[in-house]
Amino acid sequence: MQKTAIIGGGVIGITLANYLDTTKYDVTLFDDENGQATKASAGIISPWLSKRRNKRWYRLARDGAAFFQKLISDMDISEKIYAKNGTILLRTKGLEDLADLAEQRKKDAPEIGEINLLSAKQTADKLPLLAPQESLYISGGARLDGLLYLNHMKKLAEEKQVHLIQEKVTINKKGEQWQVNTKGQQFLADYVILAAGPNCKTLLEPLGYQVDLRPQKGQLIVFKTQQGQSKQWPVAMLDNEADLIPANDGQMIIGATHEDKAQWDLQPTSAAFEKLTNNSKDFLQTPEKLLENSFTYRVGTRAYTSDFAPFFGSLPDDPTLFVASGLGSSGLTTGPYIGYLLAEYFNEGSWSTEDYQKTLDTYIKTHSF
Ligand SMILES: Cc1cc2nc3c(=O)[nH]c(=O)nc-3n(C[C@H](O)[C@H](O)[C@H](O)COP(=O)(O)OP(=O)(O)OC[C@H]3O[C@@H](n4cnc5c(N)ncnc54)[C@H](O)[C@@H]3O)c2cc1C
Repeated sequence: MQKTAIIGGGVIGITLANYLDTTKYDVTLFDDENGQATKASAGIISPWLSKRRNKRWYRLARDGAAFFQKLISDMDISEKIYAKNGTILLRTKGLEDLADLAEQRKKDAPEIGEINLLSAKQTADKLPLLAPQESLYISGGARLDGLLYLNHMKKLAEEKQVHLIQEKVTINKKGEQWQVNTKGQQFLADYVILAAGPNCKTLLEPLGYQVDLRPQKGQLIVFKTQQGQSKQWPVAMLDNEADLIPANDGQMIIGATHEDKAQWDLQPTSAAFEKLTNNSKDFLQTPEKLLENSFTYRVGTRAYTSDFAPFFGSLPDDPTLFVASGLGSSGLTTGPYIGYLLAEYFNEGSWSTEDYQKTLDTYIKTHSF
């Protein structure tokens, strides 16, 4: 059995741990549970109408959204964790063009589902918190509860004999093997897979690599309401750097901020509350009804590359060291699929990912390449 260490138990690491063949690999997952983007995230899975032009990213996000069907059946994911209630897109203009784009994209992404232009009344009927306004509805949009997903997948991983160790680690090479260091112990591994969000940079730099990654702070506000039916409502993308995400147990989430200067900071700020609530007010039927509820913050750190695209694979100069990061603001959509692709590579021994990403040396450099 080959010893395999995964560093980072966010959406990539925990999905990978569950898909790795544990009859071939002795798997240990190290995670310090600190500032994990996955558990903070808003969880919108609806990539098809993004304004982004990066075709590789789009293919990855499209196939990542489609992958949920397999993930749900393989891992017995409940509707509390992943709910496909559709997405409402609000725009002051250009809804017809957006509907045309949806029809075009549906040709190779049938997961988009039904595409309907809604009247103002139909919009408010679908999501009663919204002020009456025209919108576009796609039935394939979904939301994933990141924290519940992690908890569920951790249980499954333990059942598969994956060792879960809650520690911050460093790594170094010892002969042909890797040494993974916690505060008081060292573990040897044949393979290391770094799925540590923006911290992949911190882990790789002492080994002589330069890594194109930066941290970005994201905050969202979770209102506790009496809206018991909210778990069946669609997500609303508000076209205003704020989205409304109905969740379990009457929670209504408004998110999220993208704060480049704040980087690793995990403190909630009243400025984020002001920004998110102001951005959403115009779209709400009676804003005070929602905004006067008690609320909590969720804060996480996203990982970004210079071209906003993720990367994953083995390092060009060391086939025993793998890395996956740079998922940015769509990592709940792409992360499970990236974890699965990595596991398939380990289980089957080959893959082809050039449709999804540039080569890894675009993002990670040593003196030798
Ligand atoms: C506020 C917010 C809203 C978001 N909304 C959405 C959304 O609606 N839709 C969407 O698709 N995506 C969304 N995202 C993005 C998505 O959450 C992330 O891209 C994704 O979760 C990243 O997953 P990951 O596994 O790469 O990293 P993470 O989830 O950050 O996990 C990495 C883990 O590695 C651990 N770690 C780091 N260094 C070490 C070390 N040295 N030793 C041990 N452990 C270590 C960290 O503590 C962490 O637990 C959002 C993100 C944020 C912050």
